[in-house]
Amino acid sequence: MSKVKVAACSGIGKVFGLLARESALEAVKLIGVDKAEMVCLAHVVTGEEESIDKTKGKKFITVDGCPTLCAAKSVAASGGVVCEQYRAVDEIRKYRGAKPGNASELTQGGWEICDAFAKEIADKILEVSEEE
Ligand code: SF4
Repeated sequence: MSKVKVAACSGIGKVFGLLARESALEAVKLIGVDKAEMVCLAHVVTGEEESIDKTKGKKFITVDGCPTLCAAKSVAASGGVVCEQYRAVDEIRKYRGAKPGNASELTQGGWEICDAFAKEIADKILEVSEEE
């Protein structure tokens, strides 16, 4: 069984990118490295042979910060199969008045959003993993 790949956006200017990355990492930890693995987005976009091998035809879950969807678009452009695409900005909107933190640090409230988001992503990883 091949592992479900998870790619997170690399945004560093706002809290959305940080929340996306932390949630993706936590989701992979929750689900276990035997079922899922993080893939470096920067490597995906280099177009090198090794990165194409890791991406082409592989099942991905992407976790972006904002509607620009850099991870989802980059994975798809490199031949990956995006089974689900998430955006941290949508997750934050679920918590009215939330102050999740800034580009470099999540607040306690931000970590609570991260935990819930990670659980949602982990459930999807499991679902995609069991489709095989
Ligand atoms: S998805 Fe948004 S936050 Fe993430 S790298 Fe792209 S522009 Fe930046």
